[in-house]
Amino acid sequence: MSKIMNFNNFIGCESEYDAADIVLFGAPYDGTTSNRPGARFGGAAIRRESFGIETYSPYLDRDLSEIKVYDGGELELPFGDPVPVLEEIYSYTRQIIEDNKLPVMLGGEHLVTLGAVRALVEKYPDLVIVHFDAHADLRDEYLGQKLSHACVIRRCHELVGDGRIYSFGIRSGTREEFEWAKEHIFLEKFELTLHVLDDMAKKLGDTPVYFTVDLDVLDPAYFPATGTPETCGESVYELDAAIKIVCESFNIVGCDLVEYSPPYDASGVCAATACKILRELLLSLRTK
Ligand code: MN
Ligand code: MN
Repeated sequence: MSKIMNFNNFIGCESEYDAADIVLFGAPYDGTTSNRPGARFGGAAIRRESFGIETYSPYLDRDLSEIKVYDGGELELPFGDPVPVLEEIYSYTRQIIEDNKLPVMLGGEHLVTLGAVRALVEKYPDLVIVHFDAHADLRDEYLGQKLSHACVIRRCHELVGDGRIYSFGIRSGTREEFEWAKEHIFLEKFELTLHVLDDMAKKLGDTPVYFTVDLDVLDPAYFPATGTPETCGESVYELDAAIKIVCESFNIVGCDLVEYSPPYDASGVCAATACKILRELLLSLRTK
């Protein structure tokens, strides 16, 4: 019997919903992208290109066939207005966590994180957010909009409060954002500092953590295919090492990978990179 490749799924993510520990899904929205739109196509492209990588990780000696991931595909989202978009993401995420599964969302632009965090903070009032990004995303509003990718961490702060957001790799923002950060969140400029993450893991223990990775934290030399490329960033090695510490040492209750924008991926190498990062992330998560 010939084997059919199911391009609707990320490779190796073939579990049924009921049996799954992890639910992967896409939030194809880029309605507030300020520079270069296209991230709405990110999740679908990651799935399609995933057939170019192996399910086995020689780094971790684990295989996607050994974990239970249901790939729910892409959410059907309206265009334009972010309010109903966030509502859809919130509802789907809430369903996943009510069923005691771990949501892993593919962007989409970074605003989609807010929908997931709204659901998670309801279930986990002591939620902590770990945020990797080139940009602070701490504006109170951007171009008159409160619901913007440039404001997403600020909106999340309104839900979780002071001292519960840890941002790393930040190398772009206004002076006001950096000043505001000093008062309200932990912000590590420029780097994904592994020893700080190690210390945090000890301090946080079993505190529930939402982990959001804006792929523009990577240097555009590795990862140009993003809405707002920002040079002087991380290497893929550095991001991979940091993701492994967060996923293995923290009590992750939800996570996302956002801002991959296929129209700017001339060589296709960013899709391959995003696929490998996602595989390593999935295989590093602690599940039941
Ligand atoms: Mn961002
Ligand atoms: Mn960013």
